[in-house]
Amino acid sequence: MKWTGVLTFAMVAFLVGIFLAYSFSRPGPMPWVDEPSFEAGMCNRAPQAEQPIVERSERAFSNLHPHVRERSETFVRLAYSCLGLEVRLTSGYRSEDEQNALYAQGRSEPGQIVTNAKAGQSYHNYGLAVDFVIIHDNRADYDLSSDHNRSGVPDWQELGELGKALGFEWGGDWRNFPDYPHLQMDFGLSIRQLAAGKRPGEQATMPLADVLKPLVD
Ligand SMILES: [Zn+2]
Repeated sequence: MKWTGVLTFAMVAFLVGIFLAYSFSRPGPMPWVDEPSFEAGMCNRAPQAEQPIVERSERAFSNLHPHVRERSETFVRLAYSCLGLEVRLTSGYRSEDEQNALYAQGRSEPGQIVTNAKAGQSYHNYGLAVDFVIIHDNRADYDLSSDHNRSGVPDWQELGELGKALGFEWGGDWRNFPDYPHLQMDFGLSIRQLAAGKRPGEQATMPLADVLKPLVD
């Protein structure tokens, strides 16, 4: 009788130990700005030259959260002035129908698979994400090894760092399904919470890296 009591106690202690070890070893939530390595030393703002480039992305700006809209415009501007790269936003807010049509691509419809998200499962569906592409010689360039500005660092990497310094999460950092053209701001809300109707307030903001403040303010 006593012996089984000790055994039970040992078993329970063992299970509690495993549970605690698991809880403490899980990674915490992703930091919003993940030690931005973007350097703005060579940046020379030229707002007038930026303007026509921004206008080419006009369609992607509609229906975005105001803060995402502002930061994604800043992304296009600083990519041009600081990195010497023209980028265009190819997608912003997506309705449920648009998301389902995209999900069907490469599955029930022809084309390549470009998303794992059905309607309601993407930050695009809540106006919290944008996709971009590098434009070189008037053509979209998705080549991850491109170094058009001859900085010695791949352009896509530099653009990812810029996006992160602006407060975005960059899809290029995702291990399982890297999405290099994708930038999103979640304001601390999961897809599950958004699907349940939670929304960031109009005043919600994400931190901007100190190195960019003098360039943006
Ligand atoms: Zn995207």
